Parts: sequence; structure tokens; C-alpha cells
Amino acid sequence: MMTNILTVAEIKDYQLRHVSFEAIALGRQLGEVTTLLINGTDDMAGQLAAHGADRILTVTDEQLTPYSSDGYTQVIQAALDAVSPDYLILGHTAVGKDLAPVIAVRRQAGLITDVVAYSDGHFKRPIYSGKAFEEKTFNSDFRVVTIRPNNFAVLNIAGAGTVEPLDVTIKDLRTTINEIVQKTTAGVDLAEAKVVVAGGRGVKSAEGFNMLQELADVLGGAVGASRGATDAEYCDYSLQIGQTGKVVTPDLYIACGISGAIQHLAGMSNAKVIVAINKDPEANIFSVADYGIVGDLFDVVPMLTDAFKAA
Ligand code: FAD
Repeated sequence: MMTNILTVAEIKDYQLRHVSFEAIALGRQLGEVTTLLINGTDDMAGQLAAHGADRILTVTDEQLTPYSSDGYTQVIQAALDAVSPDYLILGHTAVGKDLAPVIAVRRQAGLITDVVAYSDGHFKRPIYSGKAFEEKTFNSDFRVVTIRPNNFAVLNIAGAGTVEPLDVTIKDLRTTINEIVQKTTAGVDLAEAKVVVAGGRGVKSAEGFNMLQELADVLGGAVGASRGATDAEYCDYSLQIGQTGKVVTPDLYIACGISGAIQHLAGMSNAKVIVAINKDPEANIFSVADYGIVGDLFDVVPMLTDAFKAA
């Protein structure tokens, strides 16, 4: 019998998050994929189909915007009843991390989180702040998986892509969100950025971060930071990368004036290519870097920006 997969598409700033397509790609390795799209548009349904979804279930209800655990849990429960999947796949994002354990407990499912690779029934995930990996398999009939963004190649093969509304009555929401105070400005989402230009205490000021933003803009990337920089108030805490910040897996990570403390490495050491700029040749960041530039970042960063602009 065909294995059934349910994935949940995530929307941020009126766009589908890239991890939604990655979830479909993993789902296609396992079986036939139904994707749940909550308060999305026809165009988004089309994008999900173009990235391999066999079926798209749409739910539209104003009570589901903004996101609430309660409301989304009710919709996912209804979708699980409709699809009876073997797997539920979510992004390892704030939303996925919120929903996956709730659903796993309610449905007596096994749960494997923060998955970065899959092969032959084995789900690989980092442990000990990225210093090692473990591979896990499921014993349960129903299985819940969260995937770390930027680790699965998305597909550009259209699935059957049928779109069907799913009828759900949302009831008895136990909390109301009265206000959302948005801290970060619009731009490339740090968690999913292909290029991250990160600054540390060596950047020395908030103005120094403008210089990093310029380089990030030229490369179509996002700016991140070490805790040294966020604690010094050079930038917002939402940019912090590491053990107590965000975990990122970009194609290119440029660390500027960051020493490479173990807690910072926990958030970025799995980036595909790491470039470190530091004036101290003994800085620990060079131990994980693919390319190291020993120099003053105030000279090097503008040079890189100019060179990429000219390229
Ligand atoms: P520093 O260690 O002060 O390094 C600054 C670097 O800049 C130096 O290497 C210096 O050589 C270089 N530099 C200075 N000037 C220049 C220049 N002009 N050009 C080039 N290079 C220059 N940290 C995180 O980042 N993320 C976390 O999530 C995190 N969680 C933590 C959790 C716990 C429980 C604890 C205890 C700590 C945590 N930390 C975290 C803090 C961490 O231990 C380090 O203190 C922090 O990462 C240091 O930040 P930094 O590298 O920016 O600063």
C-alpha cells in the first residue's frame, strides 16, 4: 500500500517559506504527499504543486491568522483524520517546534526533530550542539518529523497537484492574540537565507552592522550576529545565531569579527561554506572555516562588497 505523507506549508510575510518545499521533497522520498495550506492563495497552491505536492488541502478561516497553536492543532487534527497519513512533516521552525510535540502526544506518534538528512528509513539529526550526528528510526505506526531548513534539495517536478478545500470548524480558541510587535524589518529570512553575513563584537557598533547589511544585500543574504554583538546592543537579539539563538544552514556563512565560541558554532558550523574574517590568526572561528581572511574587517568587508558589486 502507498505510504501517505502530510506536510504543512508555512507562510511568512505573505510568502511560502522555502522549508515548505523541502518538506514536500522529503515526503516524496517516502510516498505520496498531501500538503496542508492554511489561509494561503491560489498562487501558493500552484507553487506547492510545482514543487511536487500530489494533493493540496486548503483551509481558510480568519481565526487562523495570526498563528495560534490551538487553531493550527485543530486544523492539523482534521487533516490527519481526512488523510490518515503515515508521516506528518513540518519545518523545524518556531511553528513546527510548537506543533510537532503536541500532535505527536495526541496521536501517540514517534517524533524525530531537527532532521537534516534521510536515507532508507534512517533520519539523521545533529546532537550535542552540532558536534555529532545520530540516526534514528521509528517504531510507531504514525510518525512526526521536523526538518531543519536548507538541508533538503527542493523538487521542480509537478505532482498531480489537485486542490481541495478541507472543511474544519475552529472552536473554543483558548487564547486571543491582541497585538504582535514585529522586531525585525522585512528582508531575507535569516533562518532560510542562502547567504548569512554575521557580525560579532569585532564589528564594534550598530553603524558597523550597516556595512555588513550592504554586503548581505549585494549577495541576496541576511545579516546575523553573535551573542557578543547582541549583548553589546549592536543589533537586535532576533539576529543572534548559536546555542541560545537561531540555527542556520546557509550555503555561505561569512563570520566577521566573531571569535568562534562553542556556543556560536552550535548555530552555524553546518553551513556549507564558512568564510571567517578576523584580525587574530589564532581565533577559534578559523578551526571551522573553509576560507580564512586574517585582517581588519573594516578593510576587508568593503573590499568584498565592491568586488561582488563589480562581478
Ligand atoms: P568575542 O569573543 O569578543 O570576539 C570578537 C572577535 O572579533 C575576536 O576574535 C577579535 O579578534 C575579532 N576582532 C576584533 N576587532 C576586529 C577587526 N577590526 N577585524 C577583524 N576581527 C576583529 N554566543 C553566541 O554567539 N550565540 C549563542 O547562542 C550563545 N549562547 C550562549 C549560551 C551560554 C549558556 C553561554 C554561557 C554563552 C553563550 N554565547 C553565545 C556567548 C559565547 O560564549 C561568546 O561569548 C560569544 O559568542 C562571543 O561573541 P563574539 O565572538 O562576537 O565576541
